[in-house]
Amino acid sequence: MIVIMKRSAIEKDVQSISKKIEAIGFQSHIIRGEERTVIGAIGTGDKERVKILINQDGVDRIYPISKPYKLAARSTKEEDTVIQVNDIQIGGGVFVVFAGPCSVESREQVLTTSEGIKSGGGHFFRGGAFKPRTSPYSFQGMGEDGLKLLADARTQTGLPIITELMSIDTVDLISQYSDIIQIGARNMQNFSLLKAMGSTQRPIFLKRGLCATLEELLMSAEYIMSEGNYNVMLCERGIRTYEKAYRNTLDLNAVPTLKQMTHLPIIVDPAHGTGRVDLVTPMAKAAIAAGADGIMVEVHPKPEEAFSDGQQSFTIPQFKQMMDELKPFIEAAGKRLVIV
Ligand code: PEP
Ligand code: MN
Repeated sequence: MIVIMKRSAIEKDVQSISKKIEAIGFQSHIIRGEERTVIGAIGTGDKERVKILINQDGVDRIYPISKPYKLAARSTKEEDTVIQVNDIQIGGGVFVVFAGPCSVESREQVLTTSEGIKSGGGHFFRGGAFKPRTSPYSFQGMGEDGLKLLADARTQTGLPIITELMSIDTVDLISQYSDIIQIGARNMQNFSLLKAMGSTQRPIFLKRGLCATLEELLMSAEYIMSEGNYNVMLCERGIRTYEKAYRNTLDLNAVPTLKQMTHLPIIVDPAHGTGRVDLVTPMAKAAIAAGADGIMVEVHPKPEEAFSDGQQSFTIPQFKQMMDELKPFIEAAGKRLVIV
């Protein structure tokens, strides 16, 4: 059930309804929008007893949420979720760029790339220190040493960091270094990991699984949100199809569809979505046209020497070229590109 508070509701009303919802046996989730506050009554409890809260101070409307994903549903919260990381806004009309190497490999690689991304107009620096590789014999990432290099890149450039978390054992470690935590495609349905993300203070960048439906992606977001972390952004990164001309099929239908289904920011990753550097810029443009709130791309000073995903990585000049080419598309889509 969802309780929509009146615009005039005061904090005391919100707290009182929240307590009553819990007393009835539901979990209470207070979701604050710019316009008004809604309170989700989630779980199994007596719905009839929630309905009679309509007579309480500050309550405007009460209705059931028909979707299986409740807190993530657009019907629960009409306005877009905006996630604030330092002074950068994600969602709500702003377009953001997450860029960096697939893997953190060395100090020089990280510092050169992060400088290039900063001067090219990127907003977040990405880099994997723990890598989910198909083969156990492939490079698995630098681990904590890699996280330290990411922290140095942040000190040098001021760009916030995003890095992937693969295991519950490293939640504290990754949270210490990373401004945003990435949950990769292969862990999209690692439910214990998702629950653990609900109790971190960090925003979560949740990538769509290789064979996941949009509803499954939203149910995974729901795992995080139902544990109390509402700062979740979703990433379309390509799905498995029969087509072999590219690594994955970037499902851009997902962008406007997810925009209808959820209020969470939607990011597109045309690097993993295609696996081909020549396709990244055209698909980034298409992602903007489809309504994406941002993109994630891979950048390496020497892609031919990259330890992972070199074939889909831009050089630094190619990254800058892409940024220039995207500007008119971002403007035409009615979004703002903030210069940091
Ligand atoms: C990555 O971002 O480098 C990555 C491994 O992504 P995905 O989980 O989408 O494959
Ligand atoms: Mn990669």
